[in-house]
Amino acid sequence: MAEPIAPARRAASIEYAVRDIVLVAREAQAAGRELLYLNIGDPNQFDFSTPPHIVEAICRAVRDNRNSYAPSEGLPEALEAIRASSEQHNGIRAIRDVFVGNGGSECIEIALAALVDPGDRVLTPSPGYPLYPAVLAKLGAQEVPYFLDETNGWQPDLEDVAAKIDERTRAIVLINPNNPTGSVCEHQTLERLLELADRHGLVILADEIYDKLVLEGRHISIASLSDELPILTFNGLSKAYLGPGLRLGWCVVSGASQRLSRYVEAVHKFLRARLCASHPVQHAVRPALLGDQSHLEQTRAKLRARRRLTVDGLNAIEGIRCVPPRAAFYAFPSVLGIDDDERWVQQLIRETGVVVVHGSGFGQRPGTHHFRVVFLPPEQTLRRAFAAIDRFARDHRDRAT
Ligand code: PLP
Repeated sequence: MAEPIAPARRAASIEYAVRDIVLVAREAQAAGRELLYLNIGDPNQFDFSTPPHIVEAICRAVRDNRNSYAPSEGLPEALEAIRASSEQHNGIRAIRDVFVGNGGSECIEIALAALVDPGDRVLTPSPGYPLYPAVLAKLGAQEVPYFLDETNGWQPDLEDVAAKIDERTRAIVLINPNNPTGSVCEHQTLERLLELADRHGLVILADEIYDKLVLEGRHISIASLSDELPILTFNGLSKAYLGPGLRLGWCVVSGASQRLSRYVEAVHKFLRARLCASHPVQHAVRPALLGDQSHLEQTRAKLRARRRLTVDGLNAIEGIRCVPPRAAFYAFPSVLGIDDDERWVQQLIRETGVVVVHGSGFGQRPGTHHFRVVFLPPEQTLRRAFAAIDRFARDHRDRAT
């Protein structure tokens, strides 16, 4: 009999908790539970939809047969709009290159593929978004998590960052605003990260996909604070423009051009090797970034109300503590008195149908336990979910004692 096909060894290290947990949810559903989804950061699965002028631009492009391949780096008019918006909205001055990809995810993957060799080290935030460890595992590079400090509003722990840099470290990933904590970096934190990057010759990969979904305070793009250091800033249509399934993201490369030119050339080789990003969707970039922005304030207003309900609802539960998020649509509460958050979350899903993601799927300090809540669902769903989590946490404690 023919042998089963052996998968590549690298597959063993690929995990993506946000989607992996859905398998447990399906089991619970098959057993008759009604599910309340608080697990996926996709606004369009709830009461948010892509603004009509963006939809219309895409439909028109498809109808007008803009369905050929596009230039590998992107359509000139889309690249110009990204450049203009990055200058005006984000204050990035020293822009050396702009490219688009099929989602911010593809841009991030290409940026890393063109940068790191097997064995190189990349600092990533913990907690952070699981795409980074997955891509680094594919590339054979080493992910080196640095901690965010829960006692300091989840700011990057700069001493930890400094302690983890060595001669194989090539880059530091900054997710600002952060997924899964909803935190926003302070000005001083950014300045100190720039100092560290400068001292050690690191590239900064700044994931700012939630920059327009700041609910409290102000977001500062790290690239606006330096015209010299090599910084790649990622963004896209998925979150602020309410189109995650459109799969269109971009990267703005800034810094001193003599340091960047060889790297940018390598990035473009990878861009050409995958042909191009979706052509018709690129026609929506200009209207999205430079057209009507009124959906943003409406989106933020809804999210602010849901955030308040989430923080109050979670903090009212004994044994759960939630640092108020300041941006995006995530909260990352800690659970006291448990020793395995993945098991706790699986039990929660099976017993209540409330689907959240365990903290260990995003990384966390050893000995701490969390779960990620997505507060995109309508208020009524959130209220039901927090009441169910409260009952579950109480039962769980009773059973443990
Ligand atoms: N970066 C962060 C921090 C995210 O949270 C996500 C999606 O959840 C992405 C990137 C992926 O973005 P895209 O849909 O543009 O690939």
